Amino acid sequence: AKEVGRDNFQFYAPEFNTRAHERFLLQEELRNALERSEFELLYQPQIDLRSGQIMAVEALIRWTHPTHGTMAPVGFIPTAEETGLIVPIGDWVLHEACRQNKAWQDIGLEPITVSVNVSARQFSEKNLVERVVHALSESDLEGCYLELELTESLIMQDVGLAVTTMNKLQSLGVQISIDDFGTGYSSLTALKTFPIARLKIDKSFIDDVATNEDDQAVASAVISLGQKLNMRVIAEGVETDEQVAFLRKNNCDEMQGYHFSKPVSSRQIERLLESRSR
Ligand code: C2E
Ligand code: CA
Ligand code: CA
Ligand code: CA
Repeated sequence: AKEVGRDNFQFYAPEFNTRAHERFLLQEELRNALERSEFELLYQPQIDLRSGQIMAVEALIRWTHPTHGTMAPVGFIPTAEETGLIVPIGDWVLHEACRQNKAWQDIGLEPITVSVNVSARQFSEKNLVERVVHALSESDLEGCYLELELTESLIMQDVGLAVTTMNKLQSLGVQISIDDFGTGYSSLTALKTFPIARLKIDKSFIDDVATNEDDQAVASAVISLGQKLNMRVIAEGVETDEQVAFLRKNNCDEMQGYHFSKPVSSRQIERLLESRSR
């Protein structure tokens, strides 16, 4: 009853409720952002711990808001999900990431994978696979150079749908990774059933992994789990030499984090890839 009361208040008197009013404005601005080309993708390198090479990049969206300047996803992705705007925005991300990855290949750079974050709302749209097919064909990118990052909670919402969708994606060569692994819950049975290429150990386990024994236990358990299930394991949010040393010692496959690079523009990725092929 409390909830209803609050909603009514927001509905009848939005001008007295700054938060609701701000959210309303944000929605309107988000609606216009796509056609005004206010979104941009930054890319963060993912490094193979053995070779030190960039194997992949994760696409991370930024919004240049007309008055607030550059906005991080935390400022607008939740609203985009609530309103369903995440579907067209997510589509744009998918197309732009594929187009950019193909453009890197076309200038002769060593092919890499581009990882795209997929929200629950996007994943449960009936035609996600068709949208992926469309993005690949329009950009002329081979499926094996695209990866989708899904969260445990997204997958566990509807295991049946997740298996079917993932199998279709796999038949396109598209890889699946589990983002923020360890923060949600996913059954080991489910993990084994899904065609998953990579597990991303959540940053919260990596932050203190150099000193905290519990985090060390979790990180090394995820690494061996991945090895046994034939998945690659990547650590997120890696910032220090000590973290890198721990990950090396425990045979983690890849790392991503400020230690190597923040998310950067496509131009900066080009420079990093150029220095790699030399
Ligand atoms: P995520 O997928 O877990 O992405 C990792 C976040 O950690 C990114 O924040 C990245 O910039 C940040 N990060 C990477 N390395 C480090 C590090 O060493 N230290 C610290 N402190 N942070 C690090 P960002 O770009 O603000 O994105 C936040 C979240 O927004 C993402 O979390 C993802 O869930 C969501 N997101 C970003 N782009 C998209 C998108 O295109 N579509 C959807 N649906 N969600 C997106
Ligand atoms: Ca991610
Ligand atoms: Ca993550
Ligand atoms: Ca995260």
